[in-house]
Amino acid sequence: MKNLTSLTIKEALAGLKKKDFSAVDLTEAHIKATEAARHLNCYILETFDIARKQAAASDARYAKGEARLLDGIPIAMKDLFCTEGVQTTAASNILKGFKPPYESTVSGNMFRDGAVMLGKANLDEFAMGSANITSAYGNVINPWKRKSDDKPLVPGGSSGGSAAAVAARIAMGATGTDTGGSIRQPASFCGISGIKPTYGRCSRFGIVAFASSLDQAGPFARSAEDCALLLQSMAGYDSKDSTSVNCPVPDYASTIAQGVKGLKVGVPKEYRIDGTNPEILKLWERGVEMLKDAGAEIVDVSLPYTKYALQTYYVIAPAECSSNLARYDGVRFGQRVEGDNLIDTYEKTRAAGFGKEVKRRILIGTYVLSAGYYDAYYNKARRVRKLIWQDFIEAYKKCDLLLTPTAPTAAFAIGENMQDPVTMYLNDVFTIPASMAGMPGMSVPVGLSADGLPLGLQLLGKPFDEATIFRAAQAIEKAANFTALPQLAQARAA
Ligand code: GLN
Repeated sequence: MKNLTSLTIKEALAGLKKKDFSAVDLTEAHIKATEAARHLNCYILETFDIARKQAAASDARYAKGEARLLDGIPIAMKDLFCTEGVQTTAASNILKGFKPPYESTVSGNMFRDGAVMLGKANLDEFAMGSANITSAYGNVINPWKRKSDDKPLVPGGSSGGSAAAVAARIAMGATGTDTGGSIRQPASFCGISGIKPTYGRCSRFGIVAFASSLDQAGPFARSAEDCALLLQSMAGYDSKDSTSVNCPVPDYASTIAQGVKGLKVGVPKEYRIDGTNPEILKLWERGVEMLKDAGAEIVDVSLPYTKYALQTYYVIAPAECSSNLARYDGVRFGQRVEGDNLIDTYEKTRAAGFGKEVKRRILIGTYVLSAGYYDAYYNKARRVRKLIWQDFIEAYKKCDLLLTPTAPTAAFAIGENMQDPVTMYLNDVFTIPASMAGMPGMSVPVGLSADGLPLGLQLLGKPFDEATIFRAAQAIEKAANFTALPQLAQARAA
């Protein structure tokens, strides 16, 4: 039998049903693997006691023939999802020790369906970042290594702990959130799949807010089908989130194998950005060929406002963040540094509690929302955002899906790309346009760079049409046959 930690979720569910192994066996195998991979720093908090209890409850349901959608599947939970009674930090000092008195809807949905939580996964502080280096709990290390040197690499961000855990085979799946690319970019850097569904598909209730008009939850896994299963559980209308959309969640697994015959796939010319690594462009061409060979029709499309997406995002996201983070004042949540008076307490608490990147965003956000600049920056950005959205709507009149690269580079080393914040922001140049437009997007691993690192391609779909994205993702997965393993998992598989 295959090592339990190398199974896909689908394979594990089949094994559990047949009683080849128990949910407790599966959980213990993942706990052992996690203990051996602690140097990756994937978790802010391990929750093995909870996992063991949940696994035993899953086994009891299997024994009674009452197993649920994800029964017994060990997952990592991004530490941005509030988990009742379990510390939730958003990787910030300001929330250290915060134990939410309620459960986020997404984590609650997954527990309802029998998922087993191994731990709260590390991330960039308040999900702001692209390399998981802004966490107050230290950076996460990518389980992949490049051929040219032995330097530790970033897993991408902000959902870096989640992605690294799934890639290292210490969790079978994970939750992430994506505001401008935080699921898709780390999926690409870690050689796994990850989908940001349409804005409104998953409830944001109980997810620590970064930029509310952009934040969306989604899963990571090692196959398109596993992502579909996880999203099936996470998604759905929730009256507790007024932006959650009441639109039925289709049975993704039932259509995923339909292939792409007859589908029109658009290739947007604006994503051919000057200076993009030729390796990435070649990979993109390979992806186009794969979909063509599988029966899709390829069409050229244009998204002219793409070039303004990154700049617009860095007005809107900080604006919303400055407003959302105003609630951390030392009175209601987490850390408090006592001052001489109330204002002094606010200032001292926030000075000590927030990291540098979070402070930078709050300052930018406050500036663009200030009376004198509101129209010049924030309102202008909102208008440009509408144009970006319109680009997608126009493009989708000509095609069913778009295919683009996920990220402009492969994973880089810790310390690289860190000379100025804008270099880091450029990581999301391909993922941010769809975030601004609220469109669903998925990254699938397609190949390795010359230096031996995974590279992903991004599939973007029509609003609420994740089902078609999954079909194309599976078609690419079949054609790409991406079987390479990170060094850490190779050692275990041997
Ligand atoms: N890297 C982007 C940022 O720093 C996106 C982060 C995210 O999607 N949460 O804002």
